[in-house]
Amino acid sequence: MGLVVTKQSSSILARQTLDTKYHIDFEYWDRADRDLNIYLRSHLCPEHQDAYADVDADTLVDSVNPKTAEVTRVLGIQHTLISHCALQPDYLTPQTTLVNAIFRVFLSNGNSPLTPEELGESLNRPARTILRMLSGGRVYKGIRPLPED
Ligand SMILES: [Zn+2]
Repeated sequence: MGLVVTKQSSSILARQTLDTKYHIDFEYWDRADRDLNIYLRSHLCPEHQDAYADVDADTLVDSVNPKTAEVTRVLGIQHTLISHCALQPDYLTPQTTLVNAIFRVFLSNGNSPLTPEELGESLNRPARTILRMLSGGRVYKGIRPLPED
């Protein structure tokens, strides 16, 4: 018997390419019952880590996309990340692990879907390495392909 691969997961994996769009699937965090707030907090700058230490991070606020001027409701903690922490010089460094770096890119762009090609460009890392990690069958921090409908 050994390996059991479900039809669904193998077909999703087979479809993933350098042009597949990925995003943070926040529902994954709900389903996995992981504490998203604790992980989000770890991406804040030191100043805001203190500020959010005792605050309920589930509060939603309006966020304006600087490129499209589109207004979306995002977590207050995410808004803080976008408007302050992501702009700090040490938000993304060559020492940031690839998973965390990808997660931070999505946090700072309001979770707009991006391909490994686009992620590679903004992170200055090889797109193929990113694709290999994201399509490897393990879900890292809820980063998943955008569902096709
Ligand atoms: Zn900050």
